[in-house]
Amino acid sequence: MKVLVPVKRVIDFNVRPRVKADQTGVDLANVKMAMNPFCEISVEEAVRIKETRAKAGQETEIVIVSIGPAQAQETIRIGLAMGGDRGILVQTDEAVEPLAVAKILKAIVDAEQPGLVIAGKQAIDDDSNQTGQMLAALLGWPQGTFASAVVFEGDKVNVTREVDGGLQTVALQLPAVVTTDLRLNEPRFASLPNIMKAKKKPIDTKTPADYGVDVTPRLSVVKVTEPKKREAGEKVADVDTLIAKLKSAGAI
Ligand code: AMP
Repeated sequence: MKVLVPVKRVIDFNVRPRVKADQTGVDLANVKMAMNPFCEISVEEAVRIKETRAKAGQETEIVIVSIGPAQAQETIRIGLAMGGDRGILVQTDEAVEPLAVAKILKAIVDAEQPGLVIAGKQAIDDDSNQTGQMLAALLGWPQGTFASAVVFEGDKVNVTREVDGGLQTVALQLPAVVTTDLRLNEPRFASLPNIMKAKKKPIDTKTPADYGVDVTPRLSVVKVTEPKKREAGEKVADVDTLIAKLKSAGAI
């Protein structure tokens, strides 16, 4: 089976984003970038699937795909160092909206015929939470979103989903699209020897035009602003004073 893992290069989650002075977006100049955390979880899950299947003598190929600037190749290399087999970089100058990403992924799925696509539930830069769902719709495949467990059973995959106030398990007929939630697994660190090995793994470079996809944006950003600054707190002498203050503020 082939597993396709789309990974997005985003601003590192440890970095506090700064809004550009003209409010047109987030300043990415000289900012540390990294693989979207949910995509790391997807790569980890794909590698675990490969390891489990290997024990049963079944082969799995993991293809890591990223749509983005030339530097997204570094993000693909991280996926390859974690255990991916080969990569596809679809190089673009501008950020691509989820629908166009889904269309490109659909074309890659048509060409590669994977049995499973595992995407992140959301990219932490735009918080869209759309790509996996739109890809499943374009393919006409079943989807299991917000996965906290992924278990294969014959030609089906059981996906436990994190829903409000509980868990729901759904059975999907393969091929299928799964999107990963935070509690699915803890991604491994790529070891130095694996980082070195990953340098030799192949990465194909393509463009959206190779897949016949028009990536012209459909949205224009009106304005991006910083979150409201939190007001300074106040230290109180004891619990009684705290309760009195909360009462007078109508909080209790
Ligand atoms: P989003 O719908 O943008 O929140 O992204 C959800 C998931 O779709 C991500 O975690 C990735 O798995 C995938 N994805 C979104 N954008 C890209 C991209 N430019 N390249 C590769 N995968 C992407």
